[in-house]
Amino acid sequence: MMTDDAAGREADVVIVGSGAAGLMAAVEAADAGASVIVLESEPQTGGSTRLSGAYVALCETPLEPGTREELYEDLIHSHHDDCQEDLSRLYVDEALATFRRLDELGIRFVRTFRFAHMSKPWAHELSGDEMGGGAEIVTKLEVAARTRGVRIETGVRASRLTAEHGRVTGVLARRSGWELAWRARRGVVIASGGFTRSPELTRNFGRPGAENILPLTGQGSRGDGLVMGMGLGAGIAYVTAGVAPTAPSDPETGKGAMVLYAGAIAVNREGRRFCRESELYIDTCWALLAQPGAVCAQVYDSRMRAHYGQTMMGKVLTGFREFEAPTVAVLADKLAAEGFDAAGVVAAVERWNAQVATGRDEDFGRTNLVGEAGELLPIAEGPFHAVICKAGTTHFNGGLTVDTTMSVRNVFGEVIPGLYAAGEVTGGFHGAGYMSGTFVGMALIFGRVGGISAARPGPVLVA
Ligand SMILES: Cc1cc2nc3c(=O)[nH]c(=O)nc-3n(C[C@H](O)[C@H](O)[C@H](O)COP(=O)(O)OP(=O)(O)OC[C@H]3O[C@@H](n4cnc5c(N)ncnc54)[C@H](O)[C@@H]3O)c2cc1C
Repeated sequence: MMTDDAAGREADVVIVGSGAAGLMAAVEAADAGASVIVLESEPQTGGSTRLSGAYVALCETPLEPGTREELYEDLIHSHHDDCQEDLSRLYVDEALATFRRLDELGIRFVRTFRFAHMSKPWAHELSGDEMGGGAEIVTKLEVAARTRGVRIETGVRASRLTAEHGRVTGVLARRSGWELAWRARRGVVIASGGFTRSPELTRNFGRPGAENILPLTGQGSRGDGLVMGMGLGAGIAYVTAGVAPTAPSDPETGKGAMVLYAGAIAVNREGRRFCRESELYIDTCWALLAQPGAVCAQVYDSRMRAHYGQTMMGKVLTGFREFEAPTVAVLADKLAAEGFDAAGVVAAVERWNAQVATGRDEDFGRTNLVGEAGELLPIAEGPFHAVICKAGTTHFNGGLTVDTTMSVRNVFGEVIPGLYAAGEVTGGFHGAGYMSGTFVGMALIFGRVGGISAARPGPVLVA
């Protein structure tokens, strides 16, 4: 192993990862007066955030004035009353300040949506005019960070934390084949995202078969930060509960597809519907995993296809293999060649259209396109389409244990001095559940807190 400890790799704050959490932490730490270096393992910044639609659940904003108490209730409910509640409290308390901060940085939401488990349309959406929502967030945060003098180094993969007398003092990271030491005078923030691309961690923490879930995430989602923290005795929270599929995905291209929220129905190989498609995609994916071959087809018409293309999901979850036919019968024949029962598919579409006409889904009680929004549509306007899907994932819950300053706590519950974490690498906020828009939300909100905490000069005293 080659080593090189030359100067130039020292700052007040060293941040591992350049997704929403890392870049937000960098901006805040720089504004708090700290010098900051961000290390990014991949050639491009942005991680999973860049690939995401970036719906962000927020409250008390000009777009969604619902209160923090209401959002808190929804969060706890969607976390199945089983999570680290002080983090949900922190989330709602910091939501408006984060909205304002993003606005200052030129990141402006234009509308809101109500997904499943939301009593109000908490999910804020960016325009998507020039690029996907997540790409806009990381592009603008990166500009803001660089403008503040933050050094962002790509192609540098952190592997271990360094510590002196119990305090974290930096990281070891590999750049161009060299193992280098990076020193942090005030603190290290781990913002390295999740572990969806680590078959080993997924196998160890997930239930049997979990390693078959297709990751749609950034290439850097290997759980490096989780392992680095554990290597220094960090506690972990809700990791097993958090290994779940979250997005129907085309196994051929590895691309996510969510036409269900534009009106498509999901049928299994026998041509039978098996879930309420408007539900949270996690529930749809669990139901999908229980189907023969763990495979389904989303079946839709040209009107639904056009509508999907207009949505943020349709803009980021794209590029999958689509089947097209002038009639449902011909489409079903094409699906038959892929192992689906053609007569079953035709019957499912006919039954669906009949139920839409009466306004009652007798089978699964679907009342809307997504959550409680959007009127049901028949599959009626040709050409007709389908995409074959397995269960994929956009993130896992669970990770390093943190407190409300984003200080990492060790397995005994004590602060590890000098070590902070934010974003998908942390656990506890979601517990065993999930509400749409709270992963990018968590990365932004807790990234801000982590950056401010790490920038504080001198040892941080926590009661
Ligand atoms: C297709 C898709 C759609 C999604 N849609 C939404 C949505 O609409 N709303 C929502 O709330 N969530 C959504 N999510 C989930 C959400 O995007 C992520 O959970 C969130 O963006 C994670 O942010 P992060 O900053 O913690 O991690 P990331 O954005 O993944 O950033 C972590 C960075 O750390 C880097 N890194 C990793 N290891 C190292 C290392 N050893 N050294 C240096 N760098 C390292 C990675 O390469 C990466 O760039 C979606 C995800 C996907 C994939």
